[in-house]
Amino acid sequence: MPELPEVESVRRGLARAGLEAAVAKVERSSFALRTGAHWAKRLERVRRLQGCRPASVDRRGKYLLWEFLRPGEGSWTLLVHLGMSGRCTVHPAETPKAAHTHLRLRFEDGRVFDFVDPRRFGGLRCDTRSALETSAPLAELGPEPWSPEFSAEALHARLHRSRRALRDALLDQRVVAGIGNIYASEICARAGIDPRVACSRLRPSAWARVHGETRRCLRDAISRGGTTLRDYRNIEGGRGRNQRALWVYGRSGQPCARCESPVSSEILQGRALFWCPSCQARPRGRWVV
Ligand SMILES: [Zn+2]
Repeated sequence: MPELPEVESVRRGLARAGLEAAVAKVERSSFALRTGAHWAKRLERVRRLQGCRPASVDRRGKYLLWEFLRPGEGSWTLLVHLGMSGRCTVHPAETPKAAHTHLRLRFEDGRVFDFVDPRRFGGLRCDTRSALETSAPLAELGPEPWSPEFSAEALHARLHRSRRALRDALLDQRVVAGIGNIYASEICARAGIDPRVACSRLRPSAWARVHGETRRCLRDAISRGGTTLRDYRNIEGGRGRNQRALWVYGRSGQPCARCESPVSSEILQGRALFWCPSCQARPRGRWVV
């Protein structure tokens, strides 16, 4: 599932594509996408984009926010969630539609934007920026990893009584926005902490490592264009390169990138978890320092 580094790579690709011509036509497949209260098809309203000109592209957590200027005044924002297998591509109009293309925007300069999603866990919504930012899911997101509100002190203050496993706290989008299963395992590995350990056992020094490695891990993954394990592709259809730099995720039984002990894995809360039993040994005492 695309996480912050993959969504950021898509954002940068869309910005690089430099789309400026107005939307000549909006084509939406008949299939429903992501389900749930915030994602009903009637809330999508993507046909509003007809005649609008694309402008800046932002990201919040795992969501893309693409601004479109309306012909009169004001703007619409297209919220895109890539779900499990969603892809965004930009190419010449004569390119045949790929299977599972659920949204195609035809621009007046002859290019098209396609949202392709075989598994249909992705989601689309078009509304004013303020309507999107003041309602779920965006309104429920915690800080971005690079915002001042995301700090070692804030992590400790919020989680020092929590019995949740560290990996599960990192997956909580209210704690920090954008982390999914791959980077949660990688952050714990780089911080040298058993991902199953309860948050209440981490001392401030351990939270400082989690905080620092969260930023470093995500920044490094962005610089490598994200992680492609299966579905993720960038705007040009290419793969990321970060999968070659993973320490533990998806590497059960293979040597740990640091000490060469075989990587362990188990299922925790329905999701696979990976760690090195020697670099991330279970703490002997009560505290993880
Ligand atoms: Zn190791």
